[in-house]
Amino acid sequence: MSQRVSVVSLGGTIATVPDADGRAGAAIGLGPQDLVAAVPQLAGTGISLDLVDLRRLPGASVTVDDVRAAAERARAQVSRGAAGVVVTQGTDTIEETAFLLDLLWTDEAPVVVTGAMRYPALAGADGPANLLAAIQVAASPQARGRGCLVVMSDEIHAARWVRKTHTVSAGAFASPASGPIGSVVEGEPRIWWPAPGRLTRHSTVDSTVKVALVTVCLDDDGGLLGALDDRYAGVVVAGLGAGHVPDRMVEPLHRLAARVPVVLASRIGVGPVLSATYGFPGSESDLRSRGLIGAGHLDPYKARLLLQVLLSNGADRAEIAATFAAAGRS
Ligand code: ASP
Repeated sequence: MSQRVSVVSLGGTIATVPDADGRAGAAIGLGPQDLVAAVPQLAGTGISLDLVDLRRLPGASVTVDDVRAAAERARAQVSRGAAGVVVTQGTDTIEETAFLLDLLWTDEAPVVVTGAMRYPALAGADGPANLLAAIQVAASPQARGRGCLVVMSDEIHAARWVRKTHTVSAGAFASPASGPIGSVVEGEPRIWWPAPGRLTRHSTVDSTVKVALVTVCLDDDGGLLGALDDRYAGVVVAGLGAGHVPDRMVEPLHRLAARVPVVLASRIGVGPVLSATYGFPGSESDLRSRGLIGAGHLDPYKARLLLQVLLSNGADRAEIAATFAAAGRS
């Protein structure tokens, strides 16, 4: 029996046609039927497809509710027998949506996110190749039990590590801390690394639970922290280096951490936040002693989503700290 894969499309450059002025994406013109029609090689794979035209949005406008809707549709497709699900969307937010899908995904079947850096009318458009490779990965037994994967440029990335590392390059996606977990060679997915453990067991997220992200800069006086009001149930601070802030920010952060969970990540985006190496005021050890929770290896964008999922599910401080500690070990 041939395998079935479901393709759920959300929009993005992969689905974009230029307007009369040559500007892309004023309206996202293409649905999943158009996307698969541009990949005649699919016929030779023996994989049959179910298509779901869920949203037609630029990546920048995708919301947490859209991702939750995509996860629900994907779950429904898997329960009807799909071997895996491909989500196509704008690359601007893939590193976040894929991680959120990963946090919410409890099925063994893989969910694979892809997109394109060049829209279909451009020379060297990458959407068709990315879609073909993503479908091959979604159908592969090797991809099972790995949560959400991102497939771009024939590379297979774990959602936890993948980042968009260039604004326009066709090779924009990378996992700088770990490398890709595999690649697609001659149509065959090859995955080299074992699957990591899950970070949470929660399968839902509440979009009304808001988590703020504050990036620390040179000579920062922490003024933005004072502007955070009760709308925010938690805060992620993207600190300098291995988790540092100017000494002037210490007291405001201490006060904030007494009110809501405050997670300390690094604005560098690659590498762990330290625990006990530096001891100056505003160092990682100082901030941890004042109640901030280290983000482990998670970059600020992913840390923000993890905190939102935890808070959405009523996690207390101990669960939040334990979950981020696990993210620091793996
Ligand atoms: N540059 C983006 C993309 O690659 C635009 C978007 O995210 O919709 O799809």
